[in-house]
Amino acid sequence: MKDAPTVGSYSREVAVAVAALVVLTALSYWSPWPERSLSLGIRLTLIALAALASVHAPLGTSSLGLGAAALPLAIVSLGPTGAGWLAAAAYLVRRLVILLLPAERSPERTGWRLTSTLEASARIGLATLAAGMVGEAMVVAIPGGLRGIAILGGLTCATYVSVIVVTTWVSMGSVASLLWRSALRPLALDVGAWMFGLILIGVVRKLGWVPALLLLCVLAIMSLEAARNAGLRQLALAQLSLLREVTRAGHRIIFRRPDLQGIAEQIHVECRRMVPFSWFAFDLVEGESRVASWAAGPDGKVEEGKLEVPASPPPLPGVHRRSGWRVVDRELVTEDRALGRLRLWCDPRQLNPGALDLLDTLLPQMASAVHRALLDREARHDPLTGLPDRRSLENELERAFADCLEEGSPMAIVMCDLDRFKRINDRIGHAAGDQALIEIARLMEDHRRETDLCCRYGGEEFAVVLERTDGETALRVAERLRIAVQKLNFKVRNRKVPLRISAGVASFPDLTVKEPDDLLKLADDALYEAKRLGRNRCLLNAGNNRFVDIDGCYTDEDDPQQKLEPPTLFA
Ligand code: GH3
Ligand code: MG
Ligand code: MG
Repeated sequence: MKDAPTVGSYSREVAVAVAALVVLTALSYWSPWPERSLSLGIRLTLIALAALASVHAPLGTSSLGLGAAALPLAIVSLGPTGAGWLAAAAYLVRRLVILLLPAERSPERTGWRLTSTLEASARIGLATLAAGMVGEAMVVAIPGGLRGIAILGGLTCATYVSVIVVTTWVSMGSVASLLWRSALRPLALDVGAWMFGLILIGVVRKLGWVPALLLLCVLAIMSLEAARNAGLRQLALAQLSLLREVTRAGHRIIFRRPDLQGIAEQIHVECRRMVPFSWFAFDLVEGESRVASWAAGPDGKVEEGKLEVPASPPPLPGVHRRSGWRVVDRELVTEDRALGRLRLWCDPRQLNPGALDLLDTLLPQMASAVHRALLDREARHDPLTGLPDRRSLENELERAFADCLEEGSPMAIVMCDLDRFKRINDRIGHAAGDQALIEIARLMEDHRRETDLCCRYGGEEFAVVLERTDGETALRVAERLRIAVQKLNFKVRNRKVPLRISAGVASFPDLTVKEPDDLLKLADDALYEAKRLGRNRCLLNAGNNRFVDIDGCYTDEDDPQQKLEPPTLFA
């Protein structure tokens, strides 16, 4: 009575189960073998012991095969069909016990399926029946004595094993399932147990039923004890692999992308490595109290926002226990800081309790990695608006400039400055000024493309780095931003406060620069010119102190002061 491999096609499982049960039932009615006159007590004891000897999986071990020792005895005492039903019933009892056990104690409960249970039980019944039939047919042809019993035992056992192998192959649809761990090792153990069953037959013949049943009792106890030991070994191995996994994951959890989306995505990937879940939600406490939320569905795409989880998990192929979600809800905390919350919606039918142990063990490491990433981020971000600060901009600018030089692609910088911001501070207060900066930062974040970098350059100045973008496109981006700021409904004490920005744009290679800082300076010149011409406008630096507005007009065309001086060739 072995562990049935659990992965098979639903229709094949049903077909094998039905075929085996039909054969068993038919042969029960048309039985060419003499009736056995065993008392009901012995029959029930046999069933109980066979079941007991095979109920070991709940302790977390693979099959010890000892249940098979009861089968030769059952064939001799109950006849082939009786033994077939006994074997099927014992396996069914064992699987039902697994089902009734709490999930934490039974790793085998994961993936429990009615069809695979019925199929395995019918398959074992059929194999026992076939072995019994071979035994009955050969008993007259083979001489008695020890040699005869050994030949008969070998033949019946070979039949049993062959039927198990063939039916497993039919129901799984491939020989790949007949690997060492899933089928061959339990089968090898069954062979050993079958031989022990032959010794029991010898005991019955020589000494009678009582010593044989006692021996079977001892066997059942040994089976449970061996299962317990194997369970402990398995536990130790599981803890060892947990430790290894924890060490490996500890090295791995380093956030390569410092942005919050990057942190959320890596947390998602780490959780997926450990726990099979369908839905994912992650809240991250950033700064003092700002909470950012991410969610991912079964497609694995992590997006900012909340999620709507369906009421129950989707049906699995085959007939399964009905179940709702198991929501794994964990806090991410370090000693002095609450960092966030993690929720995973798992299908309990696919959830291995060991996976949750792994997650819980790794949670502190995950929390400290998130903490490190946040501290690192905070060191390079402006605390008021949450945007990267000037230092980050300088680093990013260096990198972007080097990339553009290498690729030969254009890049642009937009420098923005709030118009008459001092007045807001002076008239309605510094706090309102702060709030205005936060609103504008949020707006810029919403308007930027994924590859653009927005940062707070200082005071009420913001800079946007646009990679692979030419000057005209960057000017249009700046203009869109200017209009969005103009439309912003910023209110203080229920009174609307109009906000305006001016922006200056400079792009490379339209302008020849050696250093990225020169590009910043040229964008700043354009910004200064926009201020000079009356604010609330965007200008592109066209070089040689000339600036173009969004309509493509040079600003000096209607500004006599700005007319270009002809170059002085000879002083
Ligand atoms: P302009 O249109 O010429 O840019 O006028 P402005 O008033 O915006 O220019 P100015 O540079 O003179 O003023 C900038 C002001 O921004 C001065 C400072 O009080 C204010 N400011 C700088 N940083 C902050 C901040 O973090 N919070 C608040 N509330 N105000 C700030
Ligand atoms: Mg200003
Ligand atoms: Mg300023």
